[in-house]
Formats: sequence, structure tokens, C-alpha cells
Amino acid sequence: MSQDNHTALPTLNDAQALAFDREHVWHPYSSLIDPPPCYLVESAEGVYLQLANPDTGESQRVIDGMSSWWCALHGYNHPVLNQAISQQSESMAHVMFGGLTHRPAIDLCRRLVDITPQGLDQVFLADSGSVAVEVAIKMALQYWHSQGRPEKSRLMSLRNGYHGDTLGAMSLCDPINGMHHLFKDNIQSQLFTEAPRCGFDEPCDADAIADVHNLLQEHKDSLAAIILEPIVQGAGGMRFYSPDYLRQLKALCERYEVLLIADEIATGFGRTGELFACGHAGITPDILCLGKALTGGYLTLAATLCTRKISSGICEGEAGVFMHGTPLMGNPLACSVANASLDLLLQDDWRGKIQTIESGLNTGLAPCRSIKGVADVRVLGAIGVIEMEQAVDMPKLQAALIERGVWLRPFGKLVYTMPPFIITQGELESLCQAIVGSLTAIEASS
Ligand SMILES: *Cc1c(COP(=O)(O)O)cnc(C)c1O
Repeated sequence: MSQDNHTALPTLNDAQALAFDREHVWHPYSSLIDPPPCYLVESAEGVYLQLANPDTGESQRVIDGMSSWWCALHGYNHPVLNQAISQQSESMAHVMFGGLTHRPAIDLCRRLVDITPQGLDQVFLADSGSVAVEVAIKMALQYWHSQGRPEKSRLMSLRNGYHGDTLGAMSLCDPINGMHHLFKDNIQSQLFTEAPRCGFDEPCDADAIADVHNLLQEHKDSLAAIILEPIVQGAGGMRFYSPDYLRQLKALCERYEVLLIADEIATGFGRTGELFACGHAGITPDILCLGKALTGGYLTLAATLCTRKISSGICEGEAGVFMHGTPLMGNPLACSVANASLDLLLQDDWRGKIQTIESGLNTGLAPCRSIKGVADVRVLGAIGVIEMEQAVDMPKLQAALIERGVWLRPFGKLVYTMPPFIITQGELESLCQAIVGSLTAIEASS
């Protein structure tokens, strides 16, 4: 499409813009051959997205039941978050972080050290969740190298886990969901233990911990770390499991000298009812990954925290430094909006708010249990999950939900919601009614 004059592109109407999008723009996990409908968002405010409708010309307001994939804790177009960004942009949008530092990053790191589990005192600011996981992997590898044990270079993760889309992170995602066979020559072969079987409210007996225990025992000399999503396995199946599993696993990691990496990129910042899901078990991992809701959904930013033991170990080693760093690291705009988002969260009664959402989801989604084809309904904190017996027809269900004023993005057998924390009781009722109504309508028509 090369031309000499690139300046004057004609303005497209909504239908033309969507047609261009279908032809040229990759979306997450999307096909560019006959893709399903993609909706054009005109603006967003509070819990609402304003969707264009090129056919009728009338836009429609829908409740975002996804918080833009766990991120938008305080909803959209929040005056405090808007102001944090605009104010910061007037003093500096960005400076390199090598040899320079700035208040927004310092304030953010202070706050993260303060609110995360005791002992996680060192912070690396990363660009996205997947990068935060790469950083965690590299920290574990450098640590054992420094300890004179470079053979401890493999990682273990849980079946049904999800840790991101870069090659290192992918190697730790569920090998089947993540289609590892497509990439087999280019991703590390890692160890996998069975997904935790004990439910959130159940204790874990020796049997439930046996698989991971055996693997740790057998592979301790080659294992650098185990990575897991504490309490809630997100994109790999939306499963909740027992804090008892986490506590016992932490003890086993210490016993067999394997580091524990907690990936709280989805669970962090209150979503599960504790500020961090590790809090359900009262454990401190060696390394902690944060992302998604860190900036309240405004900009991409993530963080990897570790204990002094890990940072000292790394820096005493051959390299003398941690081997990672990027030009846009610690971006001041992202740090400022993260600070403002954390202030909003912590100034508020976040725990009370999440309990209210939890009970609203429990009540509102309960009728799903009697809809045919529903296998399970589960709620934890501000997360509601309906697991179907069969994979859902996503475009059809999405259209039914939009008709009822709600945006969700189901996948596989899972219809799930994690609304912004600012959602009102009335909006939460509407959200649940739309889910019940859509599933009922689709069941009736099938
Ligand atoms: C989303 C997610 C990631 C990856 O974060 P990105 O920002 O998408 O790169 C990693 N781990 C978990 C648990 C996640 O939910």
C-alpha cells in the first residue's frame, strides 16, 4: 500500500472503520479469516462502555462485566485517574530509568513494598504481565546460578495455569490449553503438577498434595522454582482452590529448596477478597508478579517483587546485576496513575465493597444453577463463574448479552464476570439478570 503521499487518509465512517479492522488488525487470540464480530467502543464512563452500532446509527450503553480483563477496578473515565495522568504529563511523560529515578516510581515501589506480603521488599517495574513473569523466571535462574547451583534451571507449574503469552511465560501455561506442541522446539520443557483438587473451603489432605510433593522430591536438584496463581487459576479455567494447598506447598518449597513464585497478575488488588490472594494463606512467596489492575486499567505496567534473599543472591553472582532493563521501564505516567489507583482503592473500604459484590453475585447468579447445560456456578470475592457442560457459542452469547446491556467475553465452557469495584447494587443486579436471561434464552433456542 506504499504511496508517496502518506499525509491525507480519508476519514472512515464506523462501518468502514470496522471493515478495515476486520481485514488488518490483530486482536487478542483472533483470526483474520472471517473473524467474529468486533464491537466499536466510542467511549467509556463508570462501569459502562458505549458501543457504536453502524447498522442503526444509535450507540448502546453496556455494563462492562469484565473490567477490561481484570484491570478497570475503578471503572472508566475516573476524574482522579484522569488528573493523575494529565498532571504528570505536564512535568515529564518519561525519562530513562537507567541511572535516573523519579518520584512516581519511588512512591509506587514504596507503596508496593508496604502492601504486599511481609518480606517482599525489592521491586522491578516491568512493561506487562508477561514480562513480569519473564523477570520472575530470570530472577529464579540467576539466583540459583549465584548460589553455585546452575543445574537448578527448570520450572514447575500447575495444570490449568496461565502465566502470559511470551515464550518463557507460555512454557509455564497449561500445555494443552496453550497448544505447546505448536511451539515445541522453541519453548522450554517444564514440569507440570496436577491442578489443585481441594476446593476453596476444603482442607487439603496428604493425597491432594501428593503429586506436587512427589515431583518436588524427585526433581528438587534440577528445579529453580514453582510458579502458580494463588487461590484462583484465571484464564486456564477460572478454578478456585484451598489456601491450605498454598500453605502446604510453601512449606514443601522450603523443605526442598525450590523457590515459590506467586503470579498475582489477575488476583492482586482485592479481586479475591484479600488484597493479595497469598493473604488467604498468610504466606510470603519468594517472588511476586503483579500487573493488570496495577494502573486501574489506564496504562500497561507490571511489577515483580522479591525478597532480600533473592536480590542479594542475584547481585552477588557472576553478573553482579540483574540482567533485565528496557527504555520505557518505570514510565512516570503509568506509575502516577498506579499511585492514584492504589490511593483510591486503599482509602476506600475495599474489603466491604468486595464482600458486597460477592454476596450480590451469589444471589444474582444462583438462578443459573437451574438452567439446563450449566455444570457449576461459583463465586469468590468479586469473581463470578458459570461453567457450562459444553463450550459456548461466544458470538451468539455475546450478542444476547449486549441485547440485555452487558459486555462479557466468555471462553470455552466458561461464562464469567469480574466487574469494576465501583459497580452499584442495581448495576450488579442488571448484570446478573442479563447473564441469567441470555443463558436461558440460548438454552431455550437450542
Ligand atoms: C494476564 C495474566 C498474565 C499476563 O499478563 P499480560 O499483561 O497479559 O502480559 C500473566 N499471569 C496471569 C495470572 C494473568 O492473568
